[in-house]
Amino acid sequence: MYDTLIIGSGPAGMTAALYAARANLKVGLIERGVPGGQMNNTADIENYPGYELISGPELSMKMHEPLEKFGVENIYGFVQAVEDHGDYKTVVTEDQRFDAKTIILATGANHRQLGVPGEIDYNSRGVSYCAVCDGAFFRDQDLVVVGGGDSAVEEAIYLTQFAKSVTIVHRRDQLRAQKIIQDRAFANEKIRFAWNKTVEEIQGNERQVDMVILKDTQTGELSVLACGGVFIYVGLDPVSEMVADLAITDEAGWVVTDEQMATKVPGIFAIGDLRQKHLRQITTAVGDGAIAGQNVYNYIVEHG
Ligand code: FAD
Ligand code: NAP
Repeated sequence: MYDTLIIGSGPAGMTAALYAARANLKVGLIERGVPGGQMNNTADIENYPGYELISGPELSMKMHEPLEKFGVENIYGFVQAVEDHGDYKTVVTEDQRFDAKTIILATGANHRQLGVPGEIDYNSRGVSYCAVCDGAFFRDQDLVVVGGGDSAVEEAIYLTQFAKSVTIVHRRDQLRAQKIIQDRAFANEKIRFAWNKTVEEIQGNERQVDMVILKDTQTGELSVLACGGVFIYVGLDPVSEMVADLAITDEAGWVVTDEQMATKVPGIFAIGDLRQKHLRQITTAVGDGAIAGQNVYNYIVEHG
């Protein structure tokens, strides 16, 4: 029986593990892939205090390395369900069951798909959701980035080191991204903007993408934009299917907690991007993790 099982080894889960293990609890950290979560898909991070600039994979390593020293048990597994049995909980993976007194959900969020024709057909043949992973394959090409948030604009800037040009296609005439990121994009000669446009279809030849069909959101007019690749950054969906039966999410699937990171099921906490919250960042994920790590200790002292 673990004192706490943490599901997800992103910045939120790793921080919760650090706090709970340093409180001398028996901690298991379950992850389906590589530790680091979304940080692994981020080239440059410059808003994590203490580092002027650090790559996502390097920050992931720095957060993960100390955990073993404090006794955190890393468990590989793809969690399918979480069961509440009152004074203990069970985490179910594809082939194992683990019992714990408390659970911390830290499964984060996944990129959203556009849902247009051609998106699935050309996945990995010009359609990508990760500039850090795929950008270098698109040297000297004209690229399209879809979206107007922090991810779209930051990743468009990142892609300019490889691409001939990058056109940001946004459905409005104002970006959602932070002002400092916007200003960098406006100052970048390789970046163009297609304002008030949505991507209606992604087309290509038998090998790869060669154009997108755009629709003007004001006039409905269609146009063609030639490109060798399309990077899609249109927001996030919560990874919360495994707790669907617990009824702890809002309508969109974000887990609802109080300020102590407690869900309405006693002993089950949620942290990071998975939560219903306004600011999804590494710093806020880490803050949530610290609070939950401390609160599982308080919960166990109180409930035994
Ligand atoms: P995640 O990072 O999403 O980690 C969740 C983990 O849970 C993953 O490792 C996943 O594999 C695991 N998991 C999910 N489901 C299961 C399951 N069923 N079983 C087992 N494991 C599971 N924030 C900043 O502060 N600065 C930035 O510069 C920045 N740049 C970004 C750039 C991009 C392109 C993106 C997409 C995001 C960026 N962010 C940035 C946001 C930041 O990465 C997130 O806010 C942060 O990673 C959230 O952390 P998390 O631990 O809540 O979730
Ligand atoms: P986001 O902030 O939700 O932005 C999504 C963008 O996609 C919005 O501009 C939205 O348009 C657009 N969009 C949504 N659905 C669309 C559709 N169907 N068709 C066309 N466009 C669509 O998502 P994000 O940029 O991935 O960021 C997610 C979180 O990570 C945010 O909290 C963000 O702050 C954080 N993040 C932080 C950093 C950083 O701090 N440096 C970097 C990356 C991400 P509208 O604007 O019209 O809604």
